Amino acid sequence: MALDRKIAYIDLSKGKIESKPIPLEIRKKFLGGRGLDAYLLYNHAPKGCDPLGPDNPLLISGGILTATCASATARTHIMAKSPLTGLLGSANMGGFFAPELAWAGYHHLVITGKAKKPVYLWIHNGTIEIRDASHLWGKTTTETQWAIREEMGDDEIKSAVIGQAGENLVRYANVMTGIKNAAGRTGMGCIMGSNILKAVAVRGTMDIKIAHPIEALDYNKRFIDQITSAKVNKTQGALGTPFIWGATNSWGGVRTRNFQYNQLENADDIEPERIDEIATETMGPYHMAGCFGCQVHCRAQYKVPSGPYAGKYDEGPEYTSQGAFGAEPDCKKAETVLTGNHLVDQYGVDNLEIGSLISWAKELFALGIITTKETDGLDLRFGNDEALLEMVH
Ligand code: SF4
Repeated sequence: MALDRKIAYIDLSKGKIESKPIPLEIRKKFLGGRGLDAYLLYNHAPKGCDPLGPDNPLLISGGILTATCASATARTHIMAKSPLTGLLGSANMGGFFAPELAWAGYHHLVITGKAKKPVYLWIHNGTIEIRDASHLWGKTTTETQWAIREEMGDDEIKSAVIGQAGENLVRYANVMTGIKNAAGRTGMGCIMGSNILKAVAVRGTMDIKIAHPIEALDYNKRFIDQITSAKVNKTQGALGTPFIWGATNSWGGVRTRNFQYNQLENADDIEPERIDEIATETMGPYHMAGCFGCQVHCRAQYKVPSGPYAGKYDEGPEYTSQGAFGAEPDCKKAETVLTGNHLVDQYGVDNLEIGSLISWAKELFALGIITTKETDGLDLRFGNDEALLEMVH
């Protein structure tokens, strides 16, 4: 049963690995996922610890129902003391990682210490190994995942990884899995980078026994009916989260030009319908994908339609990328939004943070507080799409 999934304690400094069962009374109080992670962080983070120090525990987990038939339980949760805020760091991502972790025997990982050289964790059916990742350091998020699959000879391996942003200790670096699933707030990728931990790779085929399978299926069917009949989910399943941005922009609820205005006018090219059109043109009519066990399937698969990155495959964009590479810096081209989205996914960096910082720099430029002298010649005028993408690099 799901309740027999364990906590693994991994000390990268000492190379020590220990697995422990999760006591039932702790389960009852905190369930799993972020609840149990918060309990573990509270108990394992020394008071006042440096977020980038070896004592700051990095917690990676799935929810108590993940990997069962329960609907929409695919999220992977990551927690640590945040290097961005110094407070509680918490982020989660969709995809297929957490179910695979549970099938490999674990619900929670508590990672401390710093490796002497780049490493990754290999977790497979109740075993955990610390492996050399020197050859992976410097790779993008997707390159890393495919390199691990190739090395282990198994395309079903799921990995939570960092890109160059995490390696370089960008305080708002993501942990990523798949193409675009991002634990993208509060800098959890920066913690992995400071641990010199490039990836956690998992593969599991351990059964999860359900005590009352028929009842569980019946119960879950009610949720599936609710999920699939809700209009909001039907819209998400057709247009993804960009529909939220489109609706919000229509009533003047988005931030534009670094919060100076609240609506992006003449934004036809980045409206959800246009993004959907591009996904259809580049990937065909059945381009919506989903996470494990989720009936919403809210993310579009697309290829960048034009420009220097034309033909690059990615997923999304989420409405956050429409804001970060569209409204906030006052860029109105789908190509820019889709390219920006692709770059942050590859580097493993938070689109919201980077979009806001770039827009802030653009306002400073508009006000003459910074000039081309400080920007290495980049013309940071609002609406200059090329400069925006250059800033992401
Ligand atoms: S498909 Fe969309 S709604 Fe479903 S879990 Fe993934 S991100 Fe969430």
